Amino acid sequence: MPDQLKIETDVDVCMGTGVCALTAPAVFTQREDDGTVIVRVATPGAELHEVTQAAAYNCPSGAIRLNVSETP
Ligand code: SF4
Repeated sequence: MPDQLKIETDVDVCMGTGVCALTAPAVFTQREDDGTVIVRVATPGAELHEVTQAAAYNCPSGAIRLNVSETP
């Protein structure tokens, strides 16, 4: 089994750049009023791990944290 990925975001530090939503639109979107991040899927499947990790890596504010745990 692949590792399980759990997404946590901190909207207080999110700058609303939309990099995450552009990088992984299946996983992230933005609030209409201020552009802050909304997580569509908190525990994305393995097919979305690569784009989710790219979004977190490219987030300019460090608002996305990924918790990786091994599935038993
Ligand atoms: S990339 Fe980071 S700063 Fe930009 S909207 Fe997403 S969480 Fe917020």
